Amino acid sequence: MRKPIIAGNWKMNKTPAEARALVEALVPLAADAQCDVVVCTPAVDFAAVSEVIRGTNIKLGAQNMHWKESGAYTGELSADMLKAYGVEYVILGHSERRQYFGETDTTVNLRVLAAVKAGLTPIICVGEKKEEREAGYTDALVSYQTKIALSGLTADEVRHVVIAYEPVWAIGTGLTATDEQANETIGVIREAVRSVYGDAADDVRIQYGGSMNPKNCKGLMAQPEIDGGLIGGASLKAEDFSKVVHFDA
Ligand code: PEP
Repeated sequence: MRKPIIAGNWKMNKTPAEARALVEALVPLAADAQCDVVVCTPAVDFAAVSEVIRGTNIKLGAQNMHWKESGAYTGELSADMLKAYGVEYVILGHSERRQYFGETDTTVNLRVLAAVKAGLTPIICVGEKKEEREAGYTDALVSYQTKIALSGLTADEVRHVVIAYEPVWAIGTGLTATDEQANETIGVIREAVRSVYGDAADDVRIQYGGSMNPKNCKGLMAQPEIDGGLIGGASLKAEDFSKVVHFDA
């Protein structure tokens, strides 16, 4: 059985004071969660958030990291820098990084390898654009993105990564994949993992992301292939995020 994992992606939102207030409200609301709960915050919020969540069931995540250990990479953060603040998860290859910051499948793979080597759990984002779905390329594209991202990991390492299927057309748009669409494409991603890593595919957790919210989370999470959610907008309010964390209530 795969334990569900609900992760919030705060994107470029919340100053440290705002972040502190959000997690202070979230801690009691999420205390009885049956799933893994992660908040992926801006790096400037790590100190405040890690102080508040210490000893609770909420884990800290980052939204990106560089693959080098140190050096002349202005503006970047290394795995060790994240770990120094208690970060355990890191989102890699988010479509906004791919779209606005030149992220490629190859650089996503470098980041994944570095994260796993450092003992961080990557949340690897894959997903198609609207025109790619309409042209019928979804399955081929997400399979390719998945295989490249994982390339170089062992099957045992693959068992512990998290993949997020995030159709680009559903992110921040209010449009959601139907329960069946999300389940079907996540099944395709799992088979892509199986084709290279065998039964490690049965352990890897695959989330859905794209306008998931308190209203639609129950139906999505009831699908057999969907092991969790990566939540943008609805993770910015403690009450909303808590409702998603309690998706089967
Ligand atoms: C995301 O950024 O990963 C995301 C899914 O955003 P939203 O929930 O706002 O669509």
